[in-house]
Amino acid sequence: MGEKITLENDILKVPDQPIIPFIEGDGIGKDITTASQKVLDAAVAKAYGSKRKLEWKEVLAGGKAFNSTGEYLPEKTLEAFREYLVGIKGPLETPVGGGIRSLNVALRQTLDLYVCLRPVRWFKGVPSPIRYPSMVDMHIFRENTEDIYAGIEFQSGEEKTEKFLDFLVNEMGITTQIRFPENSSFGVKPISKDGSERLIRAAIQYAIDRRLPSVTLVHKGNIMKFTEGAFKNWGYDLAETEFANQVFTWRQYQQIESEKGQLDAQKALEQAKKEDKVIVKDVITDAFLQDSLLHPYDHSVIATMNLNGDYVSDQLAAMVGGIGISPGANINYQSGFAIFEATHGTAPNIAGTGKANPSSLILSGVMMLEYLGWHEAAEHVFDAMEHTFAKRRVTSDLHAMMESSTLLSTTEFADEIIRNI
Ligand code: NAD
Repeated sequence: MGEKITLENDILKVPDQPIIPFIEGDGIGKDITTASQKVLDAAVAKAYGSKRKLEWKEVLAGGKAFNSTGEYLPEKTLEAFREYLVGIKGPLETPVGGGIRSLNVALRQTLDLYVCLRPVRWFKGVPSPIRYPSMVDMHIFRENTEDIYAGIEFQSGEEKTEKFLDFLVNEMGITTQIRFPENSSFGVKPISKDGSERLIRAAIQYAIDRRLPSVTLVHKGNIMKFTEGAFKNWGYDLAETEFANQVFTWRQYQQIESEKGQLDAQKALEQAKKEDKVIVKDVITDAFLQDSLLHPYDHSVIATMNLNGDYVSDQLAAMVGGIGISPGANINYQSGFAIFEATHGTAPNIAGTGKANPSSLILSGVMMLEYLGWHEAAEHVFDAMEHTFAKRRVTSDLHAMMESSTLLSTTEFADEIIRNI
């Protein structure tokens, strides 16, 4: 049963019964996968009756794969994601000493899933450490394949490290900047024009498609000029050339300001806003971490590199209730490959206890439905979750922080959402 999703002329062709490969995941993976599939199935049935259905196809990774095949990430699993284009996964434990740094990183790199997309939105009633969480509506585009995460590292004391140091000192003339050369480890940070452009292009297009007001380029270019600084410059160049009629950049503002004065620059900015242009701006990472807390409404889409994106994602997730309710997706907009995933880990301390919050995976499923163009079903789940949180019926992670809330198990929470669909 079911058919393959395909990509034709850059457009996703989604049959009425698409085959969706899924990885159950380790630890709480089983609990939250079962719960989220039930919810998504109920929403699709409500939206389209028997016309449409998700055909789930289990593929193996992590502990379950190792136990039956001896491998943590079998080639068959990668093939399934390549063949069916769109899939979803639960969290995977990083095997210790298994020769793989992280299964998640391996999946992202093998399928070149260059965008890590994390929308951050607050649900009424969910406890938040900030005063006005309703003002949080941010969409993080984290570059997923480059940066210090490329894994090019040399450990202090190893032969390769000696060679690398020798190259730096004798070939590149780096003489004073390495403070303790005899016992330093090193990491290499590749940031490319191509890699930055495809990420920023996707972020700007997303803002245009969803009529979002701004894209903020988050970088530490004041210190790392040729990597993070270049990311910013390439971003502005791309925005002003490829999206000339749809955006107004902060760099253009500064140009007008220096040539004609602040009043004219302000007028140009107001005019661009009136014309619904996306405002592309940039902020230094440390300032962004502060500003996103103090003025969250100033940031809508955020485009940033891998390491910054990692930090930013967790801070913003904490602002709306934590990783238990933060969804994510890894996408290659050119090939169409996409894997939707819970952003938290395997939570071994609560696996099998019924305490896991399935919201992160359910909301990742909502993102998947939107990616498929099944917006009606996505809205059903979203509205039902909003309703469930508003009634203060929650799993143990939120129950602990929410006064007069009712404690539900993972399954009871999923059933409650289904009742509200
Ligand atoms: P974790 O996210 O698993 O757990 C951190 C804390 O959050 C724990 O107290 C846990 O109980 C709680 N928590 C997490 N998800 C929850 C949920 N849905 N509901 C309620 N509480 C939840 O992080 P960790 O302990 O650092 O990592 C455990 C394993 O997960 C490691 O092997 C790590 O490599 C892996 N990991 C995988 C992913 C992924 O698959 N995307 C992401 C992060 C970590």
